Amino acid sequence: MILIDGKKVAAELREELKGEVSQLKKQHNKIPGLTVILIGDLTPSQIYVRNKERSAKEVGLNSEVIKYPDSVEEKTVLEKIKELNVDATVSGILVQLPLPKHIDKQKVIETIDPSKDVDGFHPMNVGNLSSGYESSIPCTPLGCYLLIKKIEPNISGKKAVIVGRSNLNGKPMTQLLLKENCTVTITHSKTKDLKSECLQADIIVAAVGIPELVKGDWVKKDAIVIDVGINKTEKGIVGDVNFNEVSKKAKALTPVPGGVGPMTIACLLKNTIECFKRSQI
Ligand code: NAP
Repeated sequence: MILIDGKKVAAELREELKGEVSQLKKQHNKIPGLTVILIGDLTPSQIYVRNKERSAKEVGLNSEVIKYPDSVEEKTVLEKIKELNVDATVSGILVQLPLPKHIDKQKVIETIDPSKDVDGFHPMNVGNLSSGYESSIPCTPLGCYLLIKKIEPNISGKKAVIVGRSNLNGKPMTQLLLKENCTVTITHSKTKDLKSECLQADIIVAAVGIPELVKGDWVKKDAIVIDVGINKTEKGIVGDVNFNEVSKKAKALTPVPGGVGPMTIACLLKNTIECFKRSQI
């Protein structure tokens, strides 16, 4: 079984992006810039944002974090986004989720200029992705996609089963695999027989949030299994896939942690650079 080393692949991607940034700097005399808006003092959000900032600096991007207290008015945040939308030094804008209850997430997402939407959540990017046009792609599914392609460059005609239909993970994952000519089944909490759906899959992507939901006897021999889940349990952080059982069946499997997680931030940097490149055309 191949243990898919997300840390290693993400480090290679960051190295590649670093080279690209220095090339772009020579070519345009400018550096792509990522601005993150962080609202409130939730510890996980603060950790994510700190890691994003560190990684952005590591590859040579300009990086800025704008912090607001929990009590900030929605209007202030929307005004700031509008300012960043017209700031030529800003290539990508990310508003760290979740937001305090009084701030409308959808309004925030829709205020970001789609050409600077590094999370790929703006409806225009969602639509472009599902129409097969160029778009920003949500970072976690993009990371999963790159890991799958690393294991198997040609996945045309493969049967893929996506467990979970969130806008963040399952739905964009479906679009990415469809574009690669996979036959894709998307499953969710109302799916009648999840085990038999999974058993047909050459590729499984689990993005559910239920610890070790996908069992060994749900997986066809030699399937590629990507585990997006991050679940805190008594025995520590586990994924949505039962690692011990599935590792005996799968051809390749991502560990948790160290699989999909590291790819997410690397893909955010990739998206920032892509936004910059599109803005220079
Ligand atoms: P989410 O928005 O809560 O969506 C979960 C999806 O799973 C929903 O579509 C839900 O179906 C489906 N589901 C729930 N119970 C199910 C069941 N018993 N059988 C089949 N499907 C079921 O979650 P998310 O934001 O996509 O996140 C999923 C997991 O990924 C979480 O553990 C999260 O922490 C992790 N995550 C990891 C990263 C990373 O960088 N590695 C990034 C983001 C998220 P319904 O639509 O019917 O409710």
